Order: sequence, then C-alpha cells, then structure tokens
Amino acid sequence: MKLLPTCITCAKSDGMLCESCQERLESGELTNLDIDISEIMLEMEEANPDMKLSEASFFKSIELERLTILVIGKGETEVFKPVIKKLQRELQLSRIEFIEKSKESSDLKARVSEKELKNIVNDFVKPGKLLGINKLFLPTGDDEYKARVQIKQGDRLPLSKPNLEKLIKELTNTIVRIEIDVVQ
Ligand SMILES: [Zn+2]
Repeated sequence: MKLLPTCITCAKSDGMLCESCQERLESGELTNLDIDISEIMLEMEEANPDMKLSEASFFKSIELERLTILVIGKGETEVFKPVIKKLQRELQLSRIEFIEKSKESSDLKARVSEKELKNIVNDFVKPGKLLGINKLFLPTGDDEYKARVQIKQGDRLPLSKPNLEKLIKELTNTIVRIEIDVVQ
C-alpha cells in the first residue's frame, strides 16, 4: 500500500501500537476499524501482487449506520473492489462503499477550500440541490457552515441528515449543518 492510516508495523501487529499510532487512536484520528482494514489490505497486497494495491492509498474509514465508507485515492475504486468481500466477511461489515479523495483534499488534516466544500456537499445531497452555504462564527471562536439544501417532495437524500453531516465532517474537517427545504 502506498498509504495507510496507520504505520505498517502497527497494521501487522495484533494490538500493540507504536506511540504515534496510539496517540492518533486516542485522539480519534485513527480507529480500530482503520487498523483492522489496513491489516487485511496488506494481506491482500502480499497475496495478490497483481492487484496493484501497492500503488493505492487507503486514508481512513468512516462508519455510518449500516454503511462503512472507505476513503481512497483518486481513481482507485477499481483497485479496491476485490477487497470488499474479504472485508465484509472478516470484519462483519454489511455495506462498503468507496469515496475517492480529490487532489485538493489529499492532506487529511487540512481543511478544504470553500469551493471544494461546496462541491463535496453538492455531490452528497443529490438528488437534492445545494442552494447556498454560509459560514457562521461561533462565540467559542470556532466556525461552522450552514448548508441549505433543496429537495423535491418524494425525493430522498442518499443518507440521513446525521450521516451526511458526519460524512462531510470526516471528509473536510469542517462542521456543516444541513438544512433541508422540501419543495413541491
Ligand atoms: Zn504505528
């Protein structure tokens, strides 16, 4: 693997983590699921050199209700597809989907630009439409965004609102509150 959320030693060790991975696990930046998935990917890579996993990046996993999203490198969905069944079986995950990270957001800790944020929100609320996005400055000194999303009556968002908000936060390091406006 070109990139994993954990170091290779920790991905291969059962339970014992190095100081850096332990710190990241405690801060929530790394999860136990990330480590388990990394281990399986390394096994797959070693067993199947033709799969091109050695050139692929797995950034992190995001657990939503009944759905696990794996954030991977741009254009790599085909490379990872053969891993799905094994992950589902070994980790008892029901549904797995991939999100390819865009070039701009390849640094996981960095916040994305407002333009990129709009693109990401717009992508995930389809068939809904992003009407606008406003930055709010909170008394705590933090900031968050409010996104107004319009959806036609009868249409459904691809994920529930809490799941959408969690996914967007994990992908962009930005809190976005979604407000849904249902129209006839
Ligand atoms: Zn480590």
